[in-house]
Amino acid sequence: MRPDVVCMTPATQKAAIGEPAKAGPEIRVENVSLRYETRSGTVQALADCNLTVSGGSFACLVGPSGCGKSTLLDVIAGLAPLQDGRIEIAKRPDGQPARLAVVFQKPALFPWKTVLGNIVFGLDAQGISRAEARKRAQHYIGLVGLDGFDKAYPHELSGGMAQRVGIARALALEPDVLLMDEPFAAVDAQTRALLQEELRRITAHSGMTVLFVTHDVAEAVYLGNTVFVMSKRPGHIIRTVSPDAEQRDRASGAFARITSEIFDLLAHSTPAKATPGAKATPGERA
Ligand code: ADP
Repeated sequence: MRPDVVCMTPATQKAAIGEPAKAGPEIRVENVSLRYETRSGTVQALADCNLTVSGGSFACLVGPSGCGKSTLLDVIAGLAPLQDGRIEIAKRPDGQPARLAVVFQKPALFPWKTVLGNIVFGLDAQGISRAEARKRAQHYIGLVGLDGFDKAYPHELSGGMAQRVGIARALALEPDVLLMDEPFAAVDAQTRALLQEELRRITAHSGMTVLFVTHDVAEAVYLGNTVFVMSKRPGHIIRTVSPDAEQRDRASGAFARITSEIFDLLAHSTPAKATPGAKATPGERA
């Protein structure tokens, strides 16, 4: 078996499943609109986006390329400015702001650090003691199926393994909210299917609130308790779907039916009305 398609061992599965944790915070997005000013004009990326991710759930945001999914994730993560509307992420039970971690399509690992070093780096920055950081890093390396690769350097890893490191690095922060932007888009189909399975298992009882961006409808239905379907740009939510266990079983007819319904929705979606003042850029229909 190739190292990048290694499955979780029974020991790591047990660690992943464990006791159910407390539910993470709810995320509420209200009337969020966002425009980019570019040299060729204003690009209206989002128009009046509304969605609520329940605390502790796994939600997927699916839509065609360029519809504004990453922009919305960036606004929620605080990486893009909130121009219009409201984002509310519930506080932790101790009254502190929720802790967020983001996983991108490319894990951007430090090439001069080992797998362990890459994970420990983020924990050091949080002021966690070196001994605790190493212990935690080892735990999450095992959880993502990379036992024995802690001393490997990024150039010695396949794309799938590097993405596992990116996920372990985010999980090691033990966030309340995990935001993921097309994390499996750059890996081959077989690895992608395995990573999806593992992510579903790792997050199932973690208590984290997860928001996962993808343009892949089948991925969204397999992973999400909730699937937010986004229109063409300027993006807004046109439907919220809550697939049941049968609909999330890739081998079932119900899975094929619900993915095909979402495809139809996407094919016939129309962009939201642009916010007044935004000029349409070439190719924009709104
Ligand atoms: P998606 O994630 O759905 O593929 P994005 O959120 O990346 O979509 O992009 C939405 C639209 O905003 C696209 O038309 C894209 O070209 C544009 N866009 C994204 N980021 C920027 C930026 N920094 N500056 C200008 N335009 C941008």
